[in-house]
Amino acid sequence: MAATLGYGLYLRRTSEPVTTRRMVPLPRKPQGAGTDFQKLKIDLHVHTNPLSPDSFMTADEAIETAKGIGLDGICFTEHDRAWQLHAVQLLREKHGFPIFRGVEVMLWGGIEMLVFGLNLDFTSLLQFRDLSKMVTAAKGFMIYAHPYRGIPEFTINDPVAASEIMIGKIDIASIDALEGLNGRNKDIRNQRALEVAAQYNLKTTGGSDAHTVSEIGTCITVLSRKVSTDEELLDELKAGRFTSAPFRARQRWSWREAQK
Ligand SMILES: [Zn+2]
Repeated sequence: MAATLGYGLYLRRTSEPVTTRRMVPLPRKPQGAGTDFQKLKIDLHVHTNPLSPDSFMTADEAIETAKGIGLDGICFTEHDRAWQLHAVQLLREKHGFPIFRGVEVMLWGGIEMLVFGLNLDFTSLLQFRDLSKMVTAAKGFMIYAHPYRGIPEFTINDPVAASEIMIGKIDIASIDALEGLNGRNKDIRNQRALEVAAQYNLKTTGGSDAHTVSEIGTCITVLSRKVSTDEELLDELKAGRFTSAPFRARQRWSWREAQK
């Protein structure tokens, strides 16, 4: 988790302390030209503290920020930890805002999957095939998170070599979708993910991978239909009625720090 530690150290030096509850101002106008924003805009990849110890925001802060920037929902995808349904229900009622649950599962090889319909705590490091079996048994949905993270900088400019490395870590046939837009990735790594998704006819999601409030909503998943429960979100994912889109301008630090 060296990359995560890197973020943490950097953010401690430069970002607003999380105890300040005021909204971080947007650096530029929200992006997203070409996206049909009549549809449902959800940040599908968000980390909150304490369930994700490397996050600098609470769930309340994440939700308030998501509402403030005009998202229609937020999905907590903590590192290997699941939100309890009753806790999410309390937050839904408190904020009057759609909140969903997934888990970002770390696997052997350092790759990570966003899983839906499998709200469990993961306490040991699984192989890809083991998680894949669990997701299938649960009739869940598995998204390969930031698939090009960890691929060396000198390889990422070669799309064939980079995709061979990326696909070599998994069984692409067992993946339901790719995270095409990750708010912490450099553009080139997101571009590669979008390209390989098109090549394999896979749908792409977007998520900020936010660990601070200023990152919420940088990349989003746009759904075609209204959803308000985890089950409805899962149904829409399985039906393939979603796409990835950029939304909120990213802060400069993300660009510099993403992907060492
Ligand atoms: Zn993440």
